[in-house]
Amino acid sequence: MPVGQWFTDDSGRWWFDSGSFALDFAYTGGIPVAVAVAPARLNSPDDLTAWMRDRFPMPVAPARSRDLFDATSLRDAIARLALAAGRGETPATADIDIVNLYAATPDIPPTLDGGSRQAGRSVQTVGQALSTIARDAVDCFGESNHGRVRICAGDCGIVYLDTSRAASRRWCSMQRCGNRAKVRAHRARKSGKVALSAA
Ligand SMILES: [Zn+2]
Repeated sequence: MPVGQWFTDDSGRWWFDSGSFALDFAYTGGIPVAVAVAPARLNSPDDLTAWMRDRFPMPVAPARSRDLFDATSLRDAIARLALAAGRGETPATADIDIVNLYAATPDIPPTLDGGSRQAGRSVQTVGQALSTIARDAVDCFGESNHGRVRICAGDCGIVYLDTSRAASRRWCSMQRCGNRAKVRAHRARKSGKVALSAA
């Protein structure tokens, strides 16, 4: 599943790689970042249909209101787990139960190209799509990623999964909070030098 999306804030449009498909989904309103930053919201079944069409490479059936209820409850559970992990807090068992519940249902099966049945003809259900998201969340919050779900070291509150080999990612985006910190450090060094030479 392709990961990452465009966010917009007062400094313009910037690419945010959350590191996880499940986290991308949580940014449809579950994780409280500045309203201007998070692009997509799930206010109606049509919003959910649009998100699924946009993000899944295979066709997913249109969402109904029941699907929207399921999607937002899964999304909010993923968001709470992400924040707890980012803060180093113990996750709520109720949220783990929600993720496990959706992960236990059939997901979108992987397929090999080149078969006799035309690719892309079968339409996946929203339930299968949610299961795929939930299984990704199991991976994101699983033991192998322990300590890798983090909150940006800037002051933006954005949560990501650090997929770097050295587990050294500190920022939502190097171009955004990373750059701001670099500029601040540079100014601090400069003013330190000025103070030193004035003394
Ligand atoms: Zn940041």
